[in-house]
Amino acid sequence: MTNEFKIRRMSTTEAGFDSELADLLNRRMIEEQSLSETVASILADVRQNGDSAVVAYTQKFDRRNDVSSMAQLTVTQAQLQAALAALPEDLSHALHLAAERIRRYHEHQKQPSWQYEEEDGSVYGQHVVALERVGIYVPGGKANYPSSVLMNAIPAKVAGVEQVIMVVPTPYQGDDGGEGQLIFAAAAVAGVDQVYTLGGAQAVGALAFGTETVPRVDKIVGPGNVFVTAAKKQVFGEVGIDMVAGPSELTVVCDGHTDPDWIAMDLFSQAEHDEQAQSILISPNAAFLDQVAASIARLLPKMERRNIIATSLRDRGALILVENDQQALDVCNQIAPEHLELSVADPQQWLPGVKHAGAIFLGRHTPEALGDYCAGPCHVLPTSGTARFFSPLGVYDFQKRSSIIQCSPEGAAALAPVAETLATNERLQAHALSAAWRIPGREKL
Ligand code: NAD
Repeated sequence: MTNEFKIRRMSTTEAGFDSELADLLNRRMIEEQSLSETVASILADVRQNGDSAVVAYTQKFDRRNDVSSMAQLTVTQAQLQAALAALPEDLSHALHLAAERIRRYHEHQKQPSWQYEEEDGSVYGQHVVALERVGIYVPGGKANYPSSVLMNAIPAKVAGVEQVIMVVPTPYQGDDGGEGQLIFAAAAVAGVDQVYTLGGAQAVGALAFGTETVPRVDKIVGPGNVFVTAAKKQVFGEVGIDMVAGPSELTVVCDGHTDPDWIAMDLFSQAEHDEQAQSILISPNAAFLDQVAASIARLLPKMERRNIIATSLRDRGALILVENDQQALDVCNQIAPEHLELSVADPQQWLPGVKHAGAIFLGRHTPEALGDYCAGPCHVLPTSGTARFFSPLGVYDFQKRSSIIQCSPEGAAALAPVAETLATNERLQAHALSAAWRIPGREKL
């Protein structure tokens, strides 16, 4: 494989660069019609039949033929605490440290209520409250993501959400049967209130509509595969959702002075998630792109997940040569990547030029992997170019705002003629009178 591996090379100077880039990015949001229909029918069934439908789909899609009731898919607090207590020392330490850092970072995101008083004594502002009950989807299926438990649940708890309900497909047990316990231990550390071992569209449906066992939530957050994403889209409106997540992506901009092996491994770290993941390197230094290509070819055969990495890099990856720094930024902003690494000498200087990215990793010593686990910011980020309008999952996703209006008698009297004029123009008589009667001396009907 070493000498054969090829990754797409592109250059902004080549004719057709724009359409090739569009092609590379276009394939990021693929949702087949048949998939939407499958998901719609699962959701309809869960809505109508509750627990029994959820159990049936869990038997079918998660191959849990041993399951016949929701009780078997319910994880108790005692089980969560037991999983935490049984954790090896190093894992327990890492989990607690990561949780503490994530908590500390998110404390900064809390938005307080605010009010201000006008000269006439009227008060205006915003009343900020936490959502009451949220569902967090933690992906499972092919691997366990305890970090996703922390990244979803801790911002919710920092916001003050009273009930965090977690769903996760039956955790992968590993060779010794113990691996799945880490998911439950993470739930205990994060303070999750209820856990159900459910996955896919049926889990999203259970959270959105409620079943005899699973409480109906106000919002569903967290990443998942295409079934989960399609289901979240379809229940949006009945419940809130955080964002529509697609396959994970990384774009690295490098000036050519970082160790090419580091950059190759950063690209691998994204590609090893799954075949659909996308890793792109942009540099104005052609020789450096050659060096990274050589590092990729040399290191790839040594990687445990080399087949997934190779497919991802071959089908979705690219090494892009640009003419200068500004062009590098322009291409980045077109990509609007989930993760952006600025592996350059003075990354802070680049920052004002970045318009769209889910998370920005500055400098040669900030690989995305640190952010994935323990730096502090949330790793649930907008993908597929949606960084143009979505932000990272954060405390603000678990808070909502109510407007505050408290008019003094003088304030009401001053505003009323304006409201009356506009309401009269809209032919809304009750509106006009309701406002006008706050003016002292106005006659009633
Ligand atoms: P998943 O939990 O998203 O999906 C598993 C569920 O899919 C199963 O429980 C099953 O119910 C359903 N399913 C599978 N095949 C089905 C079928 N044919 N019909 C109907 N339903 C079916 O787990 P996954 O599949 O391993 O995917 C995890 C995803 O989450 C990956 O894309 C990964 O990259 C992503 N991820 C993202 C982040 C992030 O923060 N962005 C973190 C971790 C994982």
